[in-house]
Amino acid sequence: MKEQYDVAVIGSGLAGLTAANILARSGHKVLLAEQHFQCGGLATAFKRKNGIIFDVSLHGFPVGMIKSCRRYWNQEIAGCIVQLPKIRFDNPQFQLETTFDRSDFTRILVQKFGIAEEKIAAFFDKARSMTHYADTNLTARQLFAEFFPGRMDIVRLLMEPITYANGSTLDDPALTYGIVFSNFMSKGVYTFQGGTDVLIDKMLAELKRNGADVVTQTPVRRILIENGKVQGVVVGGSGEDRQIKTRVVVSNANIKGTVFDLAGQEHFRNEFVEEARSVRLNNSSTQVYVAFKRGFLIDENVCGDLLFTSDAPEFSSEKLLDKHVTSRTFSFYYPKTRPGSDRCYVVSSTNAHYDDWADLPKEDYGSAKSALIEDTFNHLEKYVPNVREHLEYVEAATPRTFARYTEHWQGASFGTKYEGLAVSRGLPREVGGLFHAGSIGIIMSGWLGAVNYGVIAANDADAYLLRN
Ligand SMILES: Cc1cc2nc3c(=O)[nH]c(=O)nc-3n(C[C@H](O)[C@H](O)[C@H](O)COP(=O)(O)OP(=O)(O)OC[C@H]3O[C@@H](n4cnc5c(N)ncnc54)[C@H](O)[C@@H]3O)c2cc1C
Repeated sequence: MKEQYDVAVIGSGLAGLTAANILARSGHKVLLAEQHFQCGGLATAFKRKNGIIFDVSLHGFPVGMIKSCRRYWNQEIAGCIVQLPKIRFDNPQFQLETTFDRSDFTRILVQKFGIAEEKIAAFFDKARSMTHYADTNLTARQLFAEFFPGRMDIVRLLMEPITYANGSTLDDPALTYGIVFSNFMSKGVYTFQGGTDVLIDKMLAELKRNGADVVTQTPVRRILIENGKVQGVVVGGSGEDRQIKTRVVVSNANIKGTVFDLAGQEHFRNEFVEEARSVRLNNSSTQVYVAFKRGFLIDENVCGDLLFTSDAPEFSSEKLLDKHVTSRTFSFYYPKTRPGSDRCYVVSSTNAHYDDWADLPKEDYGSAKSALIEDTFNHLEKYVPNVREHLEYVEAATPRTFARYTEHWQGASFGTKYEGLAVSRGLPREVGGLFHAGSIGIIMSGWLGAVNYGVIAANDADAYLLRN
């Protein structure tokens, strides 16, 4: 680390990495400080004995990621993005397989659900027309009631995957559903071939080529602000805390953490502090990571790539978050996911409330995790018979795990509810040179949302540096 930079980026999630890359590429001196020992934030992988490696959030993202990676990273990264063609649903209302795009969904809605093509087209067009400026009073529930009244089976088909993708519920603004749903519907679901660790390594190599300094195990403890402008950051890590001078900070940390823990509320107007305080965090997750013995192959035709399963008779946002799990998404990873490997993996994900896990005493926490694993096996058995016999390793993560590794308040998987976006965008009006990039407002979350928000924040920071 040098004494002085043009920009300090706090956190190396996909938004932080992307903002840092664009700013470094534009010729600014950039420091990227990450508190964890590896970069990527929630876009991360972790290793266990015998060459086992799990991806935490590599389940699927929209095709737009190819363009974003090509433009803001490089062709090598964009070239590793491949489609996941087999998206499956298995619940008491329907079982089906789809490529998860507009034409296949139209086919399914006509043939299986008996809806007229014009109606479906009108729904898709309305969802597609939604932007950040759309009516925020219209909820997803009202949107579905307008097009498919009384059809909770259709609501499940349309909503369940998006709830998993960004934590939005039927009572969130319809635009938070419409934007993300339309992104997926344009061409289906994509993944990064090679795994998250390979993606992050390629990003770090590009950052290095562009001259950014990237430091890990370096928490930013404080953003220094004087006379309403950013002056520097205090970083910890090895040895004593150090002050680094910088005119611009792009914080990839949680938005509430940025305002209250890193900057300090005394630097903001009272109205802004109240607005920031009232931002609701989005939900968190539990995951069960399963590694099979080398050479054991899961049946791709039975499992597909992504499988949305549920025992619940009907779709309900509340049930998806309930500690008594009824719905889970299985991501199946075949050897082709990581070319050269001969191991299959399953990661089971469930949306979860932080509060259900936060205060469990040590023993109860351990047994709740074991129960989650056992319950997952019982459900997985249907798709991978005798699953326990083929198992090599299993481990569970809870909202506490996500909070611990990312410092996100309440382990939020997808940032905040919609109102968080205005607070994030409002930061630079309160403090000169202070920007935020990262999962926020439901829409700027997920891999694509985070990358694209990194671009927006970098452009704003670049303009500020040119003006000041
Ligand atoms: C279980 C799970 C599954 C998911 N699945 C998908 C999926 O399939 N598809 C998809 O598109 N999205 C998925 N997501 C969401 C997606 O992973 C995130 O929205 C995205 O990766 C968030 O990126 P971010 O830039 O907002 O930052 P984050 O990944 O949240 O990273 C923030 C970084 O800041 C660092 N940091 C925080 N405070 C400090 C500090 N004071 N000093 C230094 N560093 C700090 C943290 O350590 C972290 O590295 C999933 C999320 C979870 C939890």
